[in-house]
Parts: sequence; structure tokens; C-alpha cells
Amino acid sequence: MNEPIGFVGLGNMGIPMAKLLISKGWTVYGFDINEEACQSFASQGGIPSALPEIVEKTSTIILMLPNSKIVNDVIQQILSLSISKERNHNETFILDMSSSFPPDTQANASKAYEIGIHLLDAPVSGGVKKAVSGELTIMVGGDETAFQRQLPILQTFGNNIFYLGESGSGHLVKSLNNYLSAVHILATSEAIRISSNFGIDPQAAIEVFNRSSGRSGSTEYKFPEFVLTETYNSGFSLDLLAKDIDITRQLLEKTGDATLLVKLISDTYHAASRSLRTNADHTEIFRYVSAYIQKKF
Ligand code: NAD
Repeated sequence: MNEPIGFVGLGNMGIPMAKLLISKGWTVYGFDINEEACQSFASQGGIPSALPEIVEKTSTIILMLPNSKIVNDVIQQILSLSISKERNHNETFILDMSSSFPPDTQANASKAYEIGIHLLDAPVSGGVKKAVSGELTIMVGGDETAFQRQLPILQTFGNNIFYLGESGSGHLVKSLNNYLSAVHILATSEAIRISSNFGIDPQAAIEVFNRSSGRSGSTEYKFPEFVLTETYNSGFSLDLLAKDIDITRQLLEKTGDATLLVKLISDTYHAASRSLRTNADHTEIFRYVSAYIQKKF
């Protein structure tokens, strides 16, 4: 019988991931500050619970939360609740699958280790679609033995699982991946806007890029699926992507090395966030670009 699992953060990614665990036979105790999210989780067979109950009943707790500030707060609560719990040392795990700030992850991992809890960073890539199908890419940092112990749970979410090294490594690579992705979708938005203003069918331009060196996840998937259809419903918000770019920027600023490109990309996404609707999807960066590249050729 599988040990029960705790799941904190039942949003766009958390719900389908928790659902996968439930479908594979795990009992999942879940918490979200949003009542609707808890109801949706219950309708999938999960057990909505407060944090103390989750700490009491489970020895692996997964976090799928918006940012490090919230993650830090929730981890602090879990650690405080764990001190009073009877449990075996080194038999309790926190998997932070959110996209978090690596230095905070390292600090959290040290605090957790002091009381015998292993914190692994295990952020994901692949978006809501692959969270639903269980085909996420997972990048892991932290103690390798703890990682091996948690592999069966991680394999529920995807088969491309990479162990990258010490605590924070997974979060670092995740932020860099999204920095690249942010560059790709911004550059593709400009390219498609320019070609459309010239009178070229955007579909045709995308097909050319996909058979040429300009291709990327944005040309192959995001543009055909969410931009050219004007649905803009990838399930990944522009603000969360801006946060990921900022992780790369902050790391570079810590050493005084922030490059022109990372500053420009980060500033552009923040300007887009101010100008687009609240909770805009990240694919709506195309709408922002369309507002500043307007002239026909
Ligand atoms: P989301 O905003 O849809 O979900 C986050 C959930 O956390 C919300 O339901 C919110 O109510 C809940 N929450 C906030 N504060 C809380 C707290 N203190 N306690 C409990 N619950 C709390 O975000 P998402 O799109 O599911 O993303 C979650 C994480 O995964 C983020 O770090 C994001 O960067 C990352 N991520 C998202 C995607 C994607 O495509 N959406 C892909 C890869 C990684």
C-alpha cells in the first residue's frame, strides 16, 4: 500500500498532478487557500485538509505554489508543525515542484535537514497539457539518496527526470529554461507581427520557421496552439513567466553580472504585465508586441 501524500497548491498545475497521483492509487491530502481549488480537488478524489493534518498524516509533501515568498512561508509552517510530530528522522520529504529562487531553496533545505527532513527541488516543464498527460520534464536538486527514494512519485508525473546535483540545481535550470522560453516567444511574436504586417500569412511563416533554424517550442507548439487560434489559454500566466526571468536576473545581479539581454527581457515582460489584462496568459505577449509593431511595410 502506498504511503499517503500531501499536496499544497492546487492550481493550474497542482490539480492535474494530484489527480495523476490519485489515479495511480495514492491517497492525497491537499491544501489550497482558494476554496474553489479545494472543491475541484475533492471532486477528483482528493481529501482537502489543513496543513497540520497534512503534516500529521503524510511523510512526503509536494508543493506547487506560485513563488518563493509563498513557498518559504509554507515550508516554515511545515517545519514548525513537524518538530512536534512523532516521526522517523530522515523519513520525511518535501518536494518543492514550484519554480522557486535557488538561494531560498538552499536555505530551506538546510533548515529542513536540521530537523531530519529532506527537501528536494523538483520543478517541472511541459505546462498544463503535460501535467494532465503525465509527461512533464522534471529537474531535481538535493540529496541523491532522497531523490532515489522519491523517484516512484516523480515518475507519476513524467519520464524525463534529471538529477542535477546539490540543492537549488533543479530550480536554477528551471529558471534558465524559462528564460530561454521567454526569449523565444518574444522574438517569435516580433517575427510573426513583422511578417503579418508585410502581408504574409502567419501560418505560412510559422511553417517556414518550423522547417528552418528559427524553430523553437514557441513556433512548434505555442503559436499554432494558443496564438494563431487567438485562444491564449496555455494555463501559464505572464506574471509567472516574468517571475522566472527575474530569478535569472536576480542571480546575475547578485554578482553584478546582469546582462543587457536579461534586463531587456525582464523589463519587457513587466511592461507587458502592466499593459495587458490582469492574469494575462504568457502567450498574450504577442498582443503586447502587436501594439508596438503596427506599421505596414
Ligand atoms: P496557479 O496560480 O494556477 O496555482 C497556484 C495555487 O497555489 C493557487 O491555487 C493558489 O490559490 C495556491 N496558493 C497560493 N498561496 C498559497 C498558500 N499559502 N497555501 C496554499 N495554497 C496557496 O499556478 P500554476 O500555474 O499551477 O503554477 C504553480 C507553480 O508551477 C509556479 O511556481 C509556476 O511557476 C510553476 N509552473 C507552472 C507551469 C504552467 O504551465 N502553469 C508550468 C511549469 C511550472
